[in-house]
Amino acid sequence: MQAPEEARTESRADRPGACVGPNAVIQLADALRDMHGTGAARQVFECAGFAELLDQPPTQMINERIPAALFTALWQNLPDESATRIAKAAGQRTADYILANRIPRAVQIILRRLPAPIAAPILLAAINKNAWTFVGSGTCRTSAGQPAVIEISDNPLAMPDCVWHQAVFERLFRELVSPATVVRHSMCCTRGDPLCHFELSFSGPKHSNRDFP
Ligand SMILES: [Zn+2]
Repeated sequence: MQAPEEARTESRADRPGACVGPNAVIQLADALRDMHGTGAARQVFECAGFAELLDQPPTQMINERIPAALFTALWQNLPDESATRIAKAAGQRTADYILANRIPRAVQIILRRLPAPIAAPILLAAINKNAWTFVGSGTCRTSAGQPAVIEISDNPLAMPDCVWHQAVFERLFRELVSPATVVRHSMCCTRGDPLCHFELSFSGPKHSNRDFP
């Protein structure tokens, strides 16, 4: 598979009610329950107006406004430090779901065996292809290189420092490209920047042989 140097998703900003994948909600609920208890989870979901999703988690694509409202409610109801830890955990769990269910095992083995500079653009292309699951009405652009770059314009799930996005990207890259991957979120629309800009540096050793079956 040849990854393009740069790729951009089609903008869907003109489509009202754009959807994202349900995992942003499902994994947030689980992280909240595990880390702060069912009371805190209900408080956040009720504040956002979606308490019913705790009892009946979504199974289909959902309107992007739902996870956006939940992330807003997370910061409204918990101290910044707690909200950050929970959003990060939700992002890590979302990446774990993607690794367990969305990227074939054989592909993961190949990516882990490839040198990081070759594996990175392949993973980037896969992220770009599936970006509609987390950018909704926004636009995703990826650019191969060192660092690899992911940019999201009109990011519907933006939150302080976009810790959820950083956690998703970091875990996927650490698992499949290099365990030494470091993410920098150098521009963020929540800080007044025109878009959200993520840089993934993946220098360092590849996975040890014990990672391979
Ligand atoms: Zn951001």
